[in-house]
Amino acid sequence: MTEDKKAKNKKILGIKGLNDVLPEDAPVWELLENTAEAVLKSYGYQRIRTPIVEETALFARGLGAVTDIVEKEMYSFEDALNGDRLTLRPESTAGVVRAVVEHSLTYNGPKRLWYSGPMFRHERPQRGRYRQFHQIGAEALGFGGPDIDAELIMLCQRLWDDLGLQGVRLEINSIGNAEERNRHRADLIAWFEQNRDVLDADAQRRLYANPLRILDTKNPAMQEMVNAAPKLLDYLDRDSLAHFEGLKKILEYNRIPFTINPRLVRGMDYYNRTVFEWIGGKAGAMATLCGGGRYDPLFEMFGGRPTPSCGFALGVERLIELLKEQGGAGVAQYTDVFIAHQGEDAMLQAFALAEALRGTGLDVILHCAPAASGSSFKAQMKRADESGATFAILLGEDELKGGKASVKALRAPETENNQRLVPMEQVADYLIGQIIGAEDEHPCGCSGLCSGPSSHGIH
Ligand code: ATP
Ligand code: MG
Repeated sequence: MTEDKKAKNKKILGIKGLNDVLPEDAPVWELLENTAEAVLKSYGYQRIRTPIVEETALFARGLGAVTDIVEKEMYSFEDALNGDRLTLRPESTAGVVRAVVEHSLTYNGPKRLWYSGPMFRHERPQRGRYRQFHQIGAEALGFGGPDIDAELIMLCQRLWDDLGLQGVRLEINSIGNAEERNRHRADLIAWFEQNRDVLDADAQRRLYANPLRILDTKNPAMQEMVNAAPKLLDYLDRDSLAHFEGLKKILEYNRIPFTINPRLVRGMDYYNRTVFEWIGGKAGAMATLCGGGRYDPLFEMFGGRPTPSCGFALGVERLIELLKEQGGAGVAQYTDVFIAHQGEDAMLQAFALAEALRGTGLDVILHCAPAASGSSFKAQMKRADESGATFAILLGEDELKGGKASVKALRAPETENNQRLVPMEQVADYLIGQIIGAEDEHPCGCSGLCSGPSSHGIH
């Protein structure tokens, strides 16, 4: 092969930090996405879909210039066709608020919204940290009280419960309003100046621009100094304190356990008052699964009317990893019935049968030839097994002669009764009868077809 041709045939690989989600992980992704959608719906949140690309200025203005994201994590580029400065969204709150202001969605009153989709941050790829990752988030817009903060937190708790996740814990804090933060900030800067020798390069740089973020440092050498720093909670005025107390009261009344972490701040400038994080994972590998808080000033920063708001975003990849660790996913089944066939007549009838069964709500995979020569029943049955189907249907010469189909129960223990001939026009009724018969025996209360959450119509 010439060098030229070799270069041409070289495999092109995916980009570092941008992952493929392979079919084996599809069930656990679906479990999370479907459960989240159902929970959000049950609280009255409506879905909004905003573009993946926005003007760079949106994030620079909304997130604040001295934030990890804007300083070093954004994928920004110039549109070569018209010179526009654009950015792949690193998060969704800014885009959602932009859309809500643009379309006056809160004109008639508050709105509960949610979104789901990919986000992009140029970070060093490692476990739980990718350059394309996914978030599901909720934004409650036009609500000023602590009740909505509590609702969002309780919605998350319900999601963990519905997913069967164990050991996810809640940390909350209040970071007050701009004036309270300013008073605290002066004392905080003084404290950091007194401890200048302990500050790392990042902290030195942020000392005057964003000292609050220094509290968020992960540098072990700074922990002791940071722990002893003036606490923002001690600077809150009456209204902010009352808001925080109001939130705590609702959580306590509803038995949602939490700890107050006075050092908890959020990465973005637009947060105020309530901030919270859900943390989970094995000891030693704890990760923030979900972060949220109140962002009352953001609407005005985007030219909107004052609209107090609160929201959260959860990291889908980190939750998927936890779900897999805790074994709450393993559903290999992706169909109910697999139809195997041999011969042209059988192939034609198999098509008709598959359509009829799908019409009753069953999920059906019809064997299609991997090569023009066709494949043996044995090879087809191997595929049937791998599909996790509950039933296989075999159509061959013998079956067709009697106008029948062989129906084989694949998940039942091996006995002689596993396979029987059923007249073609009765196959659908027979399968449904089997399913309903199995219903009583199924502990999950489903129709007996499934080995876990499934999308088939009968379930
Ligand atoms: P961190 O301090 O870990 O960088 P963050 O404050 O940047 O987190 P948020 O912007 O609050 O994170 O995003 C909310 C959630 O999205 C995080 O709690 C996390 O679960 C997830 N997340 C954030 N960045 C990434 C990433 N690069 N890869 C995977 N998940 C991420
Ligand atoms: Mg980050």
